[in-house]
Amino acid sequence: MAYDNNFQRKMYQGNWQCSKCQAAITELPFEPDQNRLGQLLCRECHRERVKSFGGGRGRFQR
Ligand SMILES: [Zn+2]
Repeated sequence: MAYDNNFQRKMYQGNWQCSKCQAAITELPFEPDQNRLGQLLCRECHRERVKSFGGGRGRFQR
């Protein structure tokens, strides 16, 4: 549990829009790629997507 102590993730402030629900995105836990601004997802949509992928990152089952 050592990593949970006072852990703070750096957030990037900006003015983006979710590509799925069109919600405004004002901060992200990563610096968005200029080429992927049209694919940004808000926190809610991102969570849904991660869930649909089974929690893996970039792992597809053929
Ligand atoms: Zn969204």
